[in-house]
Amino acid sequence: MNFSDSQIVGSIMTDHDFETTDNLADADLIFVNTCSIRDNAEKRVRARLQEFKRYKKQKPGLIIGVLGCMAERLKEQLIEEEKMVDVIVGPDAYRDLPRLLSVAESGQKAINVILSADETYADINPVRLDNNGVSAFISIMRGCENFCSYCVVPYTRGRERSRDPQTIVREAEELFSEGYREVTLLGQNVNSYKWDDGTGFAQLLERVAKVNPLLRVRFATSHPKDLTDELLHTMAAYPNICRSIHLPVQSGSDRMLKLMNRKYTREWYRQRIEAIRQILPGCAISTDIIAGFCTETEEDHQDTLEMMRWAGYDYAFMFKYSERPDTLAHKRYKDDVPDEVKSRRLQEIIELQQELSFRSNHADIGKTFEVLAESVSKKSGSELSGRNSQNKVVVFARENFKPGDYVQVRITSCTPATLRGKVVKELHNGHNPGALK
Ligand code: SAH
Ligand code: SF4
Repeated sequence: MNFSDSQIVGSIMTDHDFETTDNLADADLIFVNTCSIRDNAEKRVRARLQEFKRYKKQKPGLIIGVLGCMAERLKEQLIEEEKMVDVIVGPDAYRDLPRLLSVAESGQKAINVILSADETYADINPVRLDNNGVSAFISIMRGCENFCSYCVVPYTRGRERSRDPQTIVREAEELFSEGYREVTLLGQNVNSYKWDDGTGFAQLLERVAKVNPLLRVRFATSHPKDLTDELLHTMAAYPNICRSIHLPVQSGSDRMLKLMNRKYTREWYRQRIEAIRQILPGCAISTDIIAGFCTETEEDHQDTLEMMRWAGYDYAFMFKYSERPDTLAHKRYKDDVPDEVKSRRLQEIIELQQELSFRSNHADIGKTFEVLAESVSKKSGSELSGRNSQNKVVVFARENFKPGDYVQVRITSCTPATLRGKVVKELHNGHNPGALK
């Protein structure tokens, strides 16, 4: 989401005659787009700011701006704590950047952290920074009102609001005509997308899938409570909607889920996974897990491990609980699981997931997948790297293929993170989202 937002900022700045540089020493202006989701994320931003101090010493006119969730959360306090920061801009105030910059150029500190009920940046054409030219993000909704008790997002990103479907479809069409072959629809909770004319997420997904059968469509992230059968049937009807669903479970314990305010039970979640398996056979399922949330017992932790084994996740993002100021958990519950217990539980979760990921990849050996080539492999110039519909990275010999090509690859070996295979044949059109036997 921040990456996508940075592209919007890039567009606003380009319209005001700025250009981007890869070299920090050349910059007259440095923006850092920040995340507050865990304390670690904020610590990394602080370390980054220290690095920028050096450039400011060399070039006193250099303006440093902090954008995004940390700006929104800390406001003026951030300028008091980090004196070299000149501009503080919350996630809904990027249109105000040119004005804020002129304030900063006059030597004053500039702040805008006003959250909006309707800003979606719908009419801004993102500048595709640092991009492979094949896959792109399209932001479809912003904010979150779910108030999971551990989460800072509803406070830093504000009200939930959806973007006009016409502007989304237009963006997808433009990307396709520029040569892009994959779009990822982005939002904190994409399946609560709702536009005034009644368009819901399933309908939006269908409209984007219809842009062109050669345009792959992905989405992230979906909240289990809003994963409807209608959405799964829409996915089943369009082979170019990728067979991969990120469905954060957070915990396998009913007691934890209730304390977390996730609004579903373990049983409900299991039924959603069963629906995916039934309606979309071969669909990859991934998740997010938090270890050591307030009052979590060994038994709760075992419930999480058990859920992971049952679901057999293809991959997962796993975190230690990090208390965030002003959230419901911070106000109501005690962060009482000792750090070493959190670390040990997280380690057990990570080790189990490595086993599950390896098992999932191993089961793909011998199958043939349609792969969209994305880039020359980082490790070897003679190989291409792409992904299959299930979002797994597949590496294969480059030959005469180029990023943007669809190829059929038979899997010959794997690591826990990557599949490797041989091209069986080039594919010009038509899709085969599942594996060919
Ligand atoms: N909207 C998405 C998640 C966005 S945040 C959803 O609800 O599914 C991404 C992930 O960060 C969350 O799924 C959660 O696992 C993790 N996370 C959020 N707040 C956290 C916290 N305070 N401590 C640790 N992990 C957290
Ligand atoms: Fe945070 Fe919950 Fe909203 Fe996800 S749904 S962004 S975890 S409050």
